[in-house]
Amino acid sequence: MMIKVWNNHYGKVVAEKDQHYIIDCEPCGFKHAIPLPDEKEQADFYEHSFYENYWGNYIRNHLEESEWYKIEYNEKYDLFKKFLPSPVQQTLLDIGSGPGLFLKAGCDRGWTTVGVEPGRAAWKYSTSKLALNVHNVFFNEETHTQFGTFQVVHINNVLEHLLHPQNTLLCIHDILEPDGLISVSVPNDFNPLQKAVIDYYKKDMWWVDIREHVNYFDRDSLDNLLIKTGFRPIYHTSSFPLELFILLGEDYIGNNKIGREIHNKRKKFDCAMEKSGNTNLKRKIYNKLSEIGLGREITVIGKKQTMASSL
Ligand SMILES: [Zn+2]
Repeated sequence: MMIKVWNNHYGKVVAEKDQHYIIDCEPCGFKHAIPLPDEKEQADFYEHSFYENYWGNYIRNHLEESEWYKIEYNEKYDLFKKFLPSPVQQTLLDIGSGPGLFLKAGCDRGWTTVGVEPGRAAWKYSTSKLALNVHNVFFNEETHTQFGTFQVVHINNVLEHLLHPQNTLLCIHDILEPDGLISVSVPNDFNPLQKAVIDYYKKDMWWVDIREHVNYFDRDSLDNLLIKTGFRPIYHTSSFPLELFILLGEDYIGNNKIGREIHNKRKKFDCAMEKSGNTNLKRKIYNKLSEIGLGREITVIGKKQTMASSL
């Protein structure tokens, strides 16, 4: 077993790629790359390149798939409502709000929503086309108090990109109202089905991409990070375990055509369950999958703890 040390980070090496290591970092409690990428270079990437490079496809796919996305969005807003103490005015901040479709879904349900989106093109779309309240800045220690306080903070597929996810969660804790909720979704990496694929097909760890993903979470490490930063995890779910397709013989890795096909199949499953009135069964399946560490993405809802509530 190889242990690597970098600044204050150390732990067992779980992958090696592009002159970086992924370590299961003991002080941090989750897997991340070392050395960490340069802060300024990374900020520049998200401000100018991240959406711009594939902006056309990204927004088109989102719109084409709006029926499927709506299922996820409605489920989340239903859960927030269920877990909040009977709110007078429902308020939500979306960090990394992209083109703003999650915010728009909230507005349509009567929520007051605010977004934070550093990418210029995405910010522009959400403010000019959808007339949403979105700030074109990074959410960090310097900026986090300027948006107000909220009952819910939603942070979807963002934490895996951040150099200091702990700090971001502490900032979120700061601006949540008492008993407020955080909803975090991240890719579920180094999961048991990915390992099964590697065992069977002798593949590389295809999900490791240090340019985009600095951190690699699973349900336990995400829970631990939330607890460390002042939240109590109260709900877990996951999404379709896409790796099953590879084991079924549909190897979508590096193959866009098969990738699209299997993506359509997973969407079809979600939509069929929804349309046939089997939403609860579908939720039960995904909630159970998350218990055994499966699902392509994991979602955890946490409740803000204060000194008083943790006593
Ligand atoms: Zn670390």
